[in-house]
Amino acid sequence: MADDKAHFSSRISAVLVQKIKERAKQDNTSITAIVEDAFKQYFKDDLPGLCPYCHTQNNPEAQFCQKCGRALTEEAQMSVTQAEQFIKKSAVYQEVLDTIREELGLEKKDKQSE
Ligand SMILES: [Zn+2]
Repeated sequence: MADDKAHFSSRISAVLVQKIKERAKQDNTSITAIVEDAFKQYFKDDLPGLCPYCHTQNNPEAQFCQKCGRALTEEAQMSVTQAEQFIKKSAVYQEVLDTIREELGLEKKDKQSE
C-alpha cells in the first residue's frame, strides 16, 4: 500500500505538489485536507449535502449548511432570496438601515438608486 501511495504522488506534477505544500503551510492545514477539498469540489454534483462554500459534508437532505449556514439547494436559496426581498421592501428595514447609516456617520442612501 505504501508503494501505491508513493506511486500516486509521483504522478502528480512537482509544481502542483509544491503548490499544495505551500498552501497547506499558508492556510495552516494539512495536505490531506487540501486534496480532500479538491476531490469534493470535483465530485460536488455527486455529493448531496456538500457545502460548495466551506466544503462541509452535511446530511444529504440538508437545506442549509450546518457550519456556515448557507443554502445548499436551489430551493433553499430561493427561499433565502425571497425572504431578503421581503425584508428589504419593509419600512422597518429602511428605518433600521437609515439609523445605522446615521450612527456610522454615513450619508443616507437614495432609495431610488437601490
Ligand atoms: Zn458551508
